[in-house]
Amino acid sequence: MIIRQAYKFRLKTNQTISRKLAQFAGCSRLVWNKALAFQKERLNIKQSCLSYAGLTKELTQWKKQEELFFLKQVHSQALQQSLKNLSQALKEAFDQTNPKQFPRFKKKGQRDSFRYPQGFKIDNDNGRVFLPKIGWIRYNKSQDVLGDAKNITISKKGQYWFVSIQVEIDREISKHSSSSIIGGDLGITRFLSLSNQKYYEPLNIFKKLKNQLAKLQKQLAKKEKFSNRWRRLKAKITKLHICIANTRNDYLHKISSTLSKNHAIVILENLKIAKMTGSAKGTGENPGTNVKQKSGLNRAILAQGWGEFIRQLEYKLAWNGGQLIQVNPKNTSRRCPKCGYISADNRKTQATFCCQQKSCNYTANADYVGSLNIREAGLALLGLGGRRTRVLRSPQDREMSVSLELPLKSQPTDGV
Ligand SMILES: [Zn+2]
Repeated sequence: MIIRQAYKFRLKTNQTISRKLAQFAGCSRLVWNKALAFQKERLNIKQSCLSYAGLTKELTQWKKQEELFFLKQVHSQALQQSLKNLSQALKEAFDQTNPKQFPRFKKKGQRDSFRYPQGFKIDNDNGRVFLPKIGWIRYNKSQDVLGDAKNITISKKGQYWFVSIQVEIDREISKHSSSSIIGGDLGITRFLSLSNQKYYEPLNIFKKLKNQLAKLQKQLAKKEKFSNRWRRLKAKITKLHICIANTRNDYLHKISSTLSKNHAIVILENLKIAKMTGSAKGTGENPGTNVKQKSGLNRAILAQGWGEFIRQLEYKLAWNGGQLIQVNPKNTSRRCPKCGYISADNRKTQATFCCQQKSCNYTANADYVGSLNIREAGLALLGLGGRRTRVLRSPQDREMSVSLELPLKSQPTDGV
């Protein structure tokens, strides 16, 4: 099975390298803008857009122009990639069934980036990459790059440059070493509660940093745009965002690694993360501009964490021969796992679940109850009993009984 993965590292740059990277990004942007203007011109006079091949011919002509001499100093495949990206964006904009936004002109300082489809090299031992026409650049190496590198993208965020390496890995899917099935409830007071009663605390670094962030963003709003003070503040905010993202990702990687090793099947709620983050969509790419309120920020950071966690868990489980299952979250917080009674009243407070069925009175931590219900829903989905089972056995019992019934090896392929 081919698995795609991306690695991202911060490049260790000096002034000379930064200038070179900025030049490459600038030329890629210029080529994009020039090609976009060219295509718009054609559309204005009712001609169809030029194909990618046609655009590359134009590019060759541009390179010959005296005032565009600097284009020759940039690796041609990086420039062609700009044309490829534009052609793709135009194709998507004219897609009849699901048209996307028409491509726009790029401005300096907004997502500066460029990509090499080939010609680059990766040196795991020394933590460096070779970029054609630029040379070797070291990066902050946190792990080895595994697999077959397909392309490499250089991008700037704040004052830092990053490298993203997209790889494909062919992995033989083996049987998972464990046969445990576990349910998990993602939440706010606890990041993740598990049906074996373990839980993970939320990442507390946010508490400290998010206030700082909100304060800085308030200050930024008062500054004159693009003034020196504005720029300094903006750089500070970006640094903080990177710090938050790094800390968060380390934490998420630790949890997702542990879970994917210890459990063959992990069941979570389908959170429709994309929908939830809709209002703060800009935060990932362009932090700060779309997030006005502290509460919005809060939720955005949380949701980003959940989305990233699910992504990590899914591929790590797949690597280990396991599987992630996402279930409908309906009633998972309101259903009594002991007697099956469903009522909003069962959850009188955020923290505690207390069954209102008189003969039952089952009481437990609300997030733990959620994880039990999620697990039950997942088992039902797998055809392993589930919801109709009203007798609550201990989670360990349940795991044992299930592991005997489940033909794990064939499981991941059957359309669950
Ligand atoms: Zn009950």
